[in-house]
Amino acid sequence: MHHFHYSGPSLQCEAVDLAAVARLYGTPTYVYSAATIAENFHRLQQSLAGLDVQICYAAKANSNLAVLRHCANLGAGFDLVSGGEIRRVIAAGGDLQASVFAGVGKTEDEIRLALENGVFALHVESEPELARINHVAGKLGVKAPIALRVNPDVDAHTHAKITTGRSDNKFGIPLKQAAGAYEVAAKLKNLTLRGVQMHIGSQLTTVAPFAEAVQKVAPLVADLQANHGITYFSIGGGMGIVYKDALASGAQAWWDAQPAAQRPLTPEAYGETLTPLLAPLGLKVLLEHGRFIVGNAGVLLTRVEHLKRGANKNFLVVDAAMNDLVRPAMYESYHEIVPVQRDSSRRALVADVVGPVCESGDCFAKDRQLQEVGEGELLALMSAGAYGFTMASRYNTRALAAEVLVNGSAFELVRQRETFAQMIAGEKVPAFLQ
Ligand SMILES: *Cc1c(COP(=O)(O)O)cnc(C)c1O
Repeated sequence: MHHFHYSGPSLQCEAVDLAAVARLYGTPTYVYSAATIAENFHRLQQSLAGLDVQICYAAKANSNLAVLRHCANLGAGFDLVSGGEIRRVIAAGGDLQASVFAGVGKTEDEIRLALENGVFALHVESEPELARINHVAGKLGVKAPIALRVNPDVDAHTHAKITTGRSDNKFGIPLKQAAGAYEVAAKLKNLTLRGVQMHIGSQLTTVAPFAEAVQKVAPLVADLQANHGITYFSIGGGMGIVYKDALASGAQAWWDAQPAAQRPLTPEAYGETLTPLLAPLGLKVLLEHGRFIVGNAGVLLTRVEHLKRGANKNFLVVDAAMNDLVRPAMYESYHEIVPVQRDSSRRALVADVVGPVCESGDCFAKDRQLQEVGEGELLALMSAGAYGFTMASRYNTRALAAEVLVNGSAFELVRQRETFAQMIAGEKVPAFLQ
């Protein structure tokens, strides 16, 4: 569920007309709903009610300072994958002591930053990394709290580029080798064994792979609790969201109308299946969802530049591009595209919705059925709150988009559109070329 809906002909985020946002701040602009983020967060927390749950929001999904602060205010810790993300949480006033530092290639500087700021734990991906963390902790004279990321070899049935829990992925330590790796870790005197971590992939739409993974890893967790006194089990993130019927899925009625067998994964179903598997362990549970919390809480607003009618195909050229939202080009992902001013009396249009970047891959949708819209009209790409802005680039020397956070009938610019001067600020022409 989410707070994007039509009020008469106008698409709104909460009580704000998206046309008003575009008038003030231009396009392309990401717009996020604070109420949607809060509801998603609370539903997730409620889903495992009765367990000691800490949500560590995966900041890489959307790391705008306002979003981080909003999550922190809701009680989130963070799942962080770089020194930059650690610094973002500090800048946003978030709690690092409830946060974890993960990633397959942490540098010594990043490990030091995490330890100096007292992160709850470092999530370790390999034995060489154990040695490195032990070394840095020794130099700082502290004990580094760690969990090993174990790879349960479960098929998450998701896109190949976002599956992480198979044995041929680069992530984690194979389950069979995990007990041995913990023995190695236990001998390193600057480490404290604090937990076990896993994360099997992203955009999962059924609970079965989560359940299979928890069941596979639970015996190891129980052993480590008995023998090494670990205190938590992080079951990762990965809960999927609705992309196809994104707008309609904002309303409870849409969910009620889905046959049970086809209903996309909900936090309630997730909790119902996983609670009985996790409760017997009696441990703290960390959840590291990113996409579920922010994905359907954001849209990308864009303006139509041209409707180019071809012999066999129509192209709707918009002012957003793959540099702003790379998911369609990178994952062949689907984003619903809706007009900001709807008018059902308009003719239907089938078109490819494309950006202006010089790449054939710069295409948001192929042969998409839309209401006919023309130059200057606004569109919203739905479900763009996760892995949207955070994956943006400046390809084609296009400035990074603006971001706006809506809260009820109020809205505020939470990132200014980048200027050309900011884009070239670090560059120079060397003397030998002048
Ligand atoms: C990316 C990632 C997450 C978040 O994944 P979502 O699909 O956005 O929920 C959680 N944990 C780890 C280790 C990750 O790499």
